[in-house]
Amino acid sequence: MGKEMDYRVNFNENNKILSVEITCCQKRIGEIRFKNGESKKCPECGAVHTLRIQHNHFHLTLNK
Ligand SMILES: [Zn+2]
Repeated sequence: MGKEMDYRVNFNENNKILSVEITCCQKRIGEIRFKNGESKKCPECGAVHTLRIQHNHFHLTLNK
């Protein structure tokens, strides 16, 4: 399991969330659209980062 992890949230000009860039194992592993159920797997440690949108908030879940 990588220690260095980061989520970067990108907004458009209307302050709407567009996408989330995921860093895992000190590497940028990719960008996901801001859509419920979108996920990205880290090629280094195999962790799956999943985006879950709810009423007025969202979660980023890590599954090893
Ligand atoms: Zn990783």
